[in-house]
Amino acid sequence: IRWTEGLGWHDAQLTPYAPLEIDPANMTLHYGQSIFEGLKAYRQADGSIATFRPEANAARFQASARRLAMPELPIETFVEAVELLVRQDRAWVPSQPEQSLYLRPFMFATEVGLGVRPANSYVFMIISSPAGAYFSGGVKPVSVWLSEDYVRAAPGGTGAAKCAGNYAASLVAQAEAAAKGCDQVVWLDAAEHKWVEEMGGMNLYFVLGEGENATVVTPELSGALLPGITRSSLLTLAADLGYATEERKISTDEWKRGNADGTITEVFACGTAAVITPVGHVKSASADWTVGTGEPGPVTMRLRESLLAIQGGQTPDTHGWMHTIA
Ligand code: PMP
Repeated sequence: IRWTEGLGWHDAQLTPYAPLEIDPANMTLHYGQSIFEGLKAYRQADGSIATFRPEANAARFQASARRLAMPELPIETFVEAVELLVRQDRAWVPSQPEQSLYLRPFMFATEVGLGVRPANSYVFMIISSPAGAYFSGGVKPVSVWLSEDYVRAAPGGTGAAKCAGNYAASLVAQAEAAAKGCDQVVWLDAAEHKWVEEMGGMNLYFVLGEGENATVVTPELSGALLPGITRSSLLTLAADLGYATEERKISTDEWKRGNADGTITEVFACGTAAVITPVGHVKSASADWTVGTGEPGPVTMRLRESLLAIQGGQTPDTHGWMHTIA
């Protein structure tokens, strides 16, 4: 679907996957007006196909567009485009557990020119690809590197938008994490390098206490972290399961101390791609600790099973999250 100033949205098409031709002076290549989303279509227990909260992806896409001075795609158009593509690609939706058809909606500027200003034309597309589990080898706790040299986002910046530049800025830290033997980066706040924000493509949750009395805590939306759809769904799901929930600031000091005195029992990451993944080990320039036992914890696994059961259509969808397509 294209957008042109004065004309609005036009020319929706469903076409086979093919390379694009790009003008060397395409404004996206120079000024980075590029935003995207990520969602999955899941085969349901009854054989039908459904996506999870696509309206939430559509709303976040609009928020990203506003931040990058791009046009907002109507929510219904986004959802309808998802439906059209998934129907077309229905044969590619796997039926094995934890597998899905990954959908990548994105939008970028198509105007040709070298002046720094919002472009006057854009294209919105969705591509799809069958996806297996994010981390090979099943539920295996990941190790994380607390990045103190680099920041992903600062107040007033683009951290809450899902724009390409945020990921470009994160790659050098991801390489640093890998060099330190860690799987993922944990981003800290820009001002004090002490408040935990999120991971490269996932939000974070901390489990305080144990069993029925556990409280699940996730860093509050500071404006510098992505408001994850899995994160928001888990606040609801955790409450359904009887856990207390909190959105608040949580520091690396609290994490380290809480881990040592046993108040923080589990930590996990969550996102569309990774679902729920336990964090097993933490490293920084000055510290190195194992989270709890280092093994996937019971609260983490209970939330994971509950979310997967909703997404796979094995348990009733009491919140109306599943959007049946075919
Ligand atoms: N943070 C970042 C930086 C991400 O890229 C993602 C993936 N979209 C998330 C968090 C998790 O968001 P969601 O649950 O909507 O996939």
